[in-house]
Amino acid sequence: MENPFESAKKQLTLATPPLKKYYDKKTLSREIQILKTPKRMIEGKIKVKMDDGTFKSFKAFRSQHNNNRGPYKGGVRFHPQVSESEVKALSLWMSIKCAVADIPYGGAKGGVKVDPKSLSKREIKRLSQGYAEFIAPFIGPHVDIPAPDVNTDSQIMSYMLGAYEKHAGKRSPAAFTGKSIKEGGSLGRTEATGQGGLYVLESYFKSKREDLKNKKIAVQGIGNVGYWFSFLAQKKGAKIVAISDSSGAVFDDKGIIPLKILNLKNKYSKISNFPKKLGYSIITNNNLFCLPVDVLVPAALENSINAKNAQNIKAKVVLELANGPTTPDAEKILNKKGVDIIPDVLANSGGVTVSYFEWLQNLKKEKWTKKEVNEKLQRKLSRAFADIEKFKKENSLTYRQAAYALAIKKIIDAS
Ligand code: NAD
Repeated sequence: MENPFESAKKQLTLATPPLKKYYDKKTLSREIQILKTPKRMIEGKIKVKMDDGTFKSFKAFRSQHNNNRGPYKGGVRFHPQVSESEVKALSLWMSIKCAVADIPYGGAKGGVKVDPKSLSKREIKRLSQGYAEFIAPFIGPHVDIPAPDVNTDSQIMSYMLGAYEKHAGKRSPAAFTGKSIKEGGSLGRTEATGQGGLYVLESYFKSKREDLKNKKIAVQGIGNVGYWFSFLAQKKGAKIVAISDSSGAVFDDKGIIPLKILNLKNKYSKISNFPKKLGYSIITNNNLFCLPVDVLVPAALENSINAKNAQNIKAKVVLELANGPTTPDAEKILNKKGVDIIPDVLANSGGVTVSYFEWLQNLKKEKWTKKEVNEKLQRKLSRAFADIEKFKKENSLTYRQAAYALAIKKIIDAS
């Protein structure tokens, strides 16, 4: 597979043609070159005390990509595949995402190369504290604000915040987002990515003078993002016909009830274990991609829509709730077939947008209701969609090209 940072840099290059009318050749090429390297890469090893008294070292990274538009912002992941290249790519995508959603942040990303399943709860706590101490000199509420990502959650943010505050010598809740409500987290953050994706999809249908009601939708992934999107879309009248976990997908052309499926998954641990007597047809994830639906929502993994399955996709729209779910080869095939792809940098930006709301609430010492949070989120994302749609039409671009070009323009103009 291609080195993720190389792919991210290619995407930057591909997004430059529509920007040629705004800048002279030299300026544009210089600015793109700047965006191809993170402003700062923090890299090292953190030593963690194991429960048996021995010490283990783990590779740790924080890539601070760009802060032209405001402090760096991005999650921290604990995963065995974390690498310098992955962290750099994710930080670049965060710069783009924050500019797309028009929130005053730049992009960052952090990670520790570790299999968290191999550690005890106490070891995870010490690893989290160790990571926070490692990055403490380089972060802060107005410098760089980390958040949860793969295998990190509000509990881990709380461990990290504690270690950071010790270093800073003062209370500083705005230094991290994705905290529990008790520690200053925002209402609406748990469902924010799914909710944001739904607002974007509603804007898309509105632009086509169509209605979300009765649209058939297939969703890959019943995790945080896939579940909340499905639950909220069904409440708005869409028909969720399939939803999956890594073991398989539940399919019913008449529509399924996501909450019911989630409860069953909790009971039987995986979808492929659902007993026949429940009456659901269980299909493979691959078959889910080929269903005759209006909208296909990848909400699980990178590269899940690829050259192998793209040709068989029958959906008219792909709403990318996962990060990087469509490979460049698959994108070419889908573009040829006339499938609209609503890109991840827009479709899943609800999460970072509500993280921004959390930070604002912490700084202003305010507590917003869920209704306020959702109204602000809807306003931000429908405006972002409208801007991208307009630029796309004016320049005959895809949604992804338009989103990237507009974001890069905002970053350059802020330098
Ligand atoms: P999660 O761990 O809660 O859920 C992931 C889901 O994917 C699970 O249902 C899992 O069963 C399913 N899955 C795993 N492997 C699969 C496979 N091979 N085939 C089908 N399904 C599979 O994760 P999440 O927080 O819902 O994140 C999902 C995606 O959304 C990721 O790409 C993540 O980077 C992206 N994302 C998440 C957020 C957020 O706020 N959580 C924000 C932006 C982007």
